[in-house]
Amino acid sequence: MPTLLLKNAYIATMDDHQREIPEGGLLIRDGFIEQVGQIANLPNTADEILDLKGHIVLPGLVNTHHHFYQTLTRAVPAAQDANLFNWLKTLYPIWARLTPDDIFISTQTALAELALSGCTTASDHLYLFPNGSKLDDEIAAAKEVGLRLQASRGSMSLGESKGGLPPDSVVDTEENILKDSQRLIQQYHDAKSGAMVQIVLAPCSPFSVTSDLMKQSAKLAREYGVHLHTHLAETEDEEQFCLQKFGHRPVGYMQAVDWVGGDVWFAHAVWVNDEEIKVFAKHDCGVAHCPTSNMRLASGIAPIKEYRAAGVNVGLGVDGSASNDGSHLLAEVRQAMLLSRIKEGITGFSRSPLPAGEGLGVRSLMTAREALHLGTRGGAAVLGRKDIGSLEVGKCADFFAISLNRLDYPGAGHDPVSAVVFCQPTRVDYTVVGGKFIVKEGQLVTVDELKLIEKHNKAAKRLVAG
Ligand SMILES: [Zn+2]
Repeated sequence: MPTLLLKNAYIATMDDHQREIPEGGLLIRDGFIEQVGQIANLPNTADEILDLKGHIVLPGLVNTHHHFYQTLTRAVPAAQDANLFNWLKTLYPIWARLTPDDIFISTQTALAELALSGCTTASDHLYLFPNGSKLDDEIAAAKEVGLRLQASRGSMSLGESKGGLPPDSVVDTEENILKDSQRLIQQYHDAKSGAMVQIVLAPCSPFSVTSDLMKQSAKLAREYGVHLHTHLAETEDEEQFCLQKFGHRPVGYMQAVDWVGGDVWFAHAVWVNDEEIKVFAKHDCGVAHCPTSNMRLASGIAPIKEYRAAGVNVGLGVDGSASNDGSHLLAEVRQAMLLSRIKEGITGFSRSPLPAGEGLGVRSLMTAREALHLGTRGGAAVLGRKDIGSLEVGKCADFFAISLNRLDYPGAGHDPVSAVVFCQPTRVDYTVVGGKFIVKEGQLVTVDELKLIEKHNKAAKRLVAG
């Protein structure tokens, strides 16, 4: 069993004690962490040694919501300044032209970007399968890049003619969707520790899926012990849609279709009230917070501090690249911290006057370490994975490293952990998944970056031109 010794780094373990080790190291054996500690207490030989003097090492970031294919439709002019429903209506006809090759190329681009931003596990939500496309195309592409993948088999069954938002040309029958979902679970889902691929069932949203498909998907997922994911309470428009169509607010609708439980996580969950936060906490539902997308589409600000205070698991997602328009997960950690502070500024301070003698400095703002917790432990909990999210003995050897000797960090050496969040997020120097290098010395090692960009641009041009 091959061993890798990482030494001389500033290690932030993100374990339960938030242990940070200035002169630290990791001993990795066969893809898992065997020892974590001060370098003096670790062996000094291994099959491979990586000296990371001057670097900070953090657990690999966990992305809980994305649509990889949308990297092909970034910054499309007609969709730049639209809110969610108009943005979708502009892009659906373009996405209807996607091919299996497009899915493959865009998956690699998104995962390459994610890897260069410190991500080691990514969830993706693919809910359009035009022109023979399959989730298999994405899984094959991810295997080459080498990141862990929570592949969500998305679906849309409520077309315009039945009162849904998407055109009928991009929706499918319930029968086909359920049959393919079952096939994918049987073919790919790995429930073991260290799994590289897990399948998730993910009807797209209340406004694109029938109630029956929601119920049937939940039933099928629970037969196999796989997780469930969907978009929820993203905008006020959706709230109005649910009230009119189903007679429930979005969270009430989820309860009505048996979509609450520790096996369910929702993307966005912006428009919720205090009672609905309690419903999530009571049933252990998770939330994928996507701050950039929520700002880009003017959707609103999710109540992250309230979720955390209620005990709800929250992870971070970059969301699809047509509403971000990138896949930089460390940047999303920073956005989460900053957006939480904006919310605090708008609501917290103005709602409750400061107690006498108390200055703004003592208010409890989201810290850099809390934001990193969302991006690591929080994301792992949301996906139901106990084997990732921190650097601890027995967990997957998934981490990233950044050199602090670059222009982004001079003057921030007093707190390297906070520096990688407060200072402008950068490309990472190393990303390792299960002990294998995905990024080494700042370069992707599993895909050819320049060739990928060329192929991707060609595919995007054809797709958007029609
Ligand atoms: Zn999304």
